[in-house]
Amino acid sequence: MPAMAADLILHGGPIFGAEGADALAVRCGKIAAVGPAAEVLPLRGPETAVVPLRGRMVLPGFFDAHVHFLRVGLERTFYIDLSGTRSLSQALEMLAEGARSRPGEWVVGRAWDESRWPERRYLERADLDRAVPKQPCYAMRVDGHLLVANTLALARCTRPEGELVDRDLGHLREEAAWELVRAARPDRETLLAALAAASRHAASLGITAVADIAGSDHLPLYQAALRRGALRTRTFLYLPIEHLPALRALGIERGFGSPLLSIQGVKVFADGSIGARTAALSSPYQDGSGTGQLLIDREALARRWGEAEEAGLQLAVHAIGDRAIEEVLAAAELARVSPHARHRIEHLELATPSQLDRVAALGLVASMQPNFLQWSGRGGMYEERLGPERDGRIDPHREVLARGIPLAFGSDGMPIGPLYGIGLALDAPHPVQRLSWAEAVRAYTEGAAYAAGAERELGALARGRRADLVVLSGNPARTPWGEFRVDLTILGGERIYNREGAA
Ligand SMILES: [Zn+2]
Repeated sequence: MPAMAADLILHGGPIFGAEGADALAVRCGKIAAVGPAAEVLPLRGPETAVVPLRGRMVLPGFFDAHVHFLRVGLERTFYIDLSGTRSLSQALEMLAEGARSRPGEWVVGRAWDESRWPERRYLERADLDRAVPKQPCYAMRVDGHLLVANTLALARCTRPEGELVDRDLGHLREEAAWELVRAARPDRETLLAALAAASRHAASLGITAVADIAGSDHLPLYQAALRRGALRTRTFLYLPIEHLPALRALGIERGFGSPLLSIQGVKVFADGSIGARTAALSSPYQDGSGTGQLLIDREALARRWGEAEEAGLQLAVHAIGDRAIEEVLAAAELARVSPHARHRIEHLELATPSQLDRVAALGLVASMQPNFLQWSGRGGMYEERLGPERDGRIDPHREVLARGIPLAFGSDGMPIGPLYGIGLALDAPHPVQRLSWAEAVRAYTEGAAYAAGAERELGALARGRRADLVVLSGNPARTPWGEFRVDLTILGGERIYNREGAA
């Protein structure tokens, strides 16, 4: 029966979410059958590729529900990656080294995290001036909410001194940082190469789809990458809120685009981050003054919400502190958002139990990042900033699931990698954060697909869904999670990553 033959069959291992199945067939980019090998293997024809699983588990392709995809690529191709630095002085050495390798050009460092350094303090302008005296240089903190600039770079900042601008320390916070980020932007070919690198890297991590919290000018880049065949990750775009009027005027609704690239909605910030002490809290930081910053008020947000919903677009609201979450919930209640519109709260880190009840009642999606648990627990940055009581209830994944709130997991690129994030959720320091491996996998597949309105196409291994698959190096029901790697990644039936040395 060659007309019915499968293009690809995987067999001999568990299929996630399909009890009793040990084989899966793919035809024309979609899943054609899932079941016992005895039922699936007859679909084999002379041209069918066959992958023996030998006990390894097949999962739906991972869907990173919150990432800045271009940044992921730039970190691998252009930025100086400071994420692995063990001290402030090591970070400065790397910046100095980077400056020597690109004389006369901008030097951009990324992802420094003072909570991992013995110096335990932010980088400052004077540090950068010493390391990079002759070129403009900035270094962004790991959370993207605090930038430190040297004197030459700071000359490009036109904003007045104030809450977000401290020229003495060279610190620019939140939107005050964007001017410099734009000034240091590499050329188009560099950006395209970065996007291709991000897509390749994602495939090696088992990622077949991302919700990209994108920048203003990213759409043309994505389209160019798509034309060149360099974008092999399903990309669901959330554009900055400034574009809402243009999207409305054009009548672009959620889902506009193709199976590989579509527009879903817009993103707005309600506050900053805990690391930069800009997340809006109801009571002060433990290790500093102030309660952070609210970046939007409830009336303005409610108005935006109404406009987005009327236009058929999702609104994704960044809210981390309990005071920001309160404002967001009040705005959603004011706007009477529809529970069917799939609006999302990004991060939702310090939600109180009663706030979570309201999230559930409003039908909002919780888009959370288990990798943030790297800062939770004894001696961690969250405990330092917030004290043990608030650290004990940050990132309450379990309470979110207990209320039936749709939970979507993502990485925020800190770092990108579902295996890492899921591992942290399994071994989380506090009970409210802990999930089983299957719950965490669902949040990183089904949950993320739901959050992007793509749950009929993606996120589960069932007949008719797109054949986006990952083969792990083992079976999570038998082997500790930390030992796994991604062996094989398949997008729409095509192999986009095959680990060297994997069976
Ligand atoms: Zn983000």
